Amino acid sequence: MEILMTVSKIASICTMGANASALEKEIGPEQFPVNEHYFGLVNFGNTCYCNSVLQALYFCRPFRDKVLAYKSQPRKKENLLTCLADLFHSIATQKKKVGVIPPKKFITRLRKENELFDNYMQQDAHEFLNYLLNTIADILQEERKQEKQNGRLPNGSVDSESSSPPDPTWVHEIFQGTLTNETRCLTCETVSSKDEDFLDLSVDVEQNTSITHCLRGFSNTETLCSEYKYYCEECRSKQEAHKRMKVKKLPMILALHLKRFKYMDQLHRYTKLSYRVVFPLELRLFNTSGDATNPDRMYDLVAVVVHCGSGPNRGHYIAIVKSHDFWLLFDDDIVEKIDAQAIEEFYGLTSDISKNSESGYILFYQSRD
Ligand SMILES: [Zn+2]
Repeated sequence: MEILMTVSKIASICTMGANASALEKEIGPEQFPVNEHYFGLVNFGNTCYCNSVLQALYFCRPFRDKVLAYKSQPRKKENLLTCLADLFHSIATQKKKVGVIPPKKFITRLRKENELFDNYMQQDAHEFLNYLLNTIADILQEERKQEKQNGRLPNGSVDSESSSPPDPTWVHEIFQGTLTNETRCLTCETVSSKDEDFLDLSVDVEQNTSITHCLRGFSNTETLCSEYKYYCEECRSKQEAHKRMKVKKLPMILALHLKRFKYMDQLHRYTKLSYRVVFPLELRLFNTSGDATNPDRMYDLVAVVVHCGSGPNRGHYIAIVKSHDFWLLFDDDIVEKIDAQAIEEFYGLTSDISKNSESGYILFYQSRD
């Protein structure tokens, strides 16, 4: 496997120039979007988990625009966000339309900041996405705090309410939604609800289903009984209850993580669920709460991080993204144009025997409004 990978990598680097011009030719000079660049990312030893997520995020336009805007701000001390901004800026300002870029500075910074990623092992792309979004939000909130302390905020008000929760950042504006957790006491029928924010949703997968089905499952009513009884404030005791989770605020970009890696007790390790889960190009959510602010949001699929292989710590990640009116596949340094129909190949497998699949792992849906 390793040897094969290396040989194919060398082969791909040798034909890189040819690939690049082939892509340009395939798209055609007339059709090639103005000011758009398709650049593969060099793999620095099992960094495809990172490359695939970075490509998916680059083609989430609201996110790319904010990262590029951050780059144009006054120079800051290096952190993970400045490295990401440099990388996105470098892609966006290339003279050539297609090619390859080494995301070396970003990877070095990532390895320095988090020991989880400080090795040459395959990592979980979802874990990385989570880490990246939370780290960017933390950096932005910290910068805002510093600015407030230095009194450089336009309104000039000295912030005395340090205990108040930090303001939402553009990461929250783009990815954050709200779930509401409704619990109904089966004795007194009192409903209590608790809201919870999310940057992405993790859903369980089942064989031969669709993402809508998985989202329904996510919101199915659960009965809390025996040892899991719920403490009812009204009854002032533990009671049986019905619990369900619904989406109260739909995010601008909905990131859906399919829980394909499952711990198998008898095997003492994680195994991959290669189940076929259909994800449509257009999506509407049906598991919204009655008081949802924007329940009718229509979403379009803009990017998918695909896991190829049989387990979480082996295999490979690629990304498929929508750019203007066509779809592209990013496999580290290789970029190819694909047909929209080819996306079906990444739904998963109908047979449970083989676990070795190329299947959608993180879906990025962007709202139309
Ligand atoms: Zn009660």
